[in-house]
Amino acid sequence: MSKAELVFTRRFSMGHRLIDGASESCALPHGHNEFVTVALRPVRERALDGRGNMIVSFREAKQRWHEFVDTALDHALQLSERDPLLEWFRANEPGRAARIVVTPGDPTTELMAALMLAKLNAFLREAGETLVCEEISLQETPTNTVRLTGDAMDYLPPAGRAAQACWWHRPDFSIQ
Ligand SMILES: [Zn+2]
Repeated sequence: MSKAELVFTRRFSMGHRLIDGASESCALPHGHNEFVTVALRPVRERALDGRGNMIVSFREAKQRWHEFVDTALDHALQLSERDPLLEWFRANEPGRAARIVVTPGDPTTELMAALMLAKLNAFLREAGETLVCEEISLQETPTNTVRLTGDAMDYLPPAGRAAQACWWHRPDFSIQ
């Protein structure tokens, strides 16, 4: 079967820490420069039309996605919703607390890839569902990349709450 994809990459800097004990070296706040690459495909495949010859206009989707990465994820701190640092920021620096990406459990690269896949597909659904993201790669270091394909719901931990209460399902720039 023929398949066409539109692939684009964005770089961002982030900080995080992992508190659940899986990796003691990641237990103190530290940061990475990451690259997120997404592959979008049209929901319905069709031939180029011999005039404009674009699969589907993806400029808008790309712009919105990159704006989200630039304004909401770049230089943000990612913390588990169970991390006591979150409470500290909310009590002492509420303005900065608003810029923390709050995740269900530790903000690993695997989890962030799934959350970002869900978020991008929320944007695409709202934009009329002509495109869907079916693959995301999150490069944490030059030698460590997580790649997910398919449905983010297959990877995400059970939320135990309504989709509307999950920022990754909302087609907006929320991160908590
Ligand atoms: Zn790390």
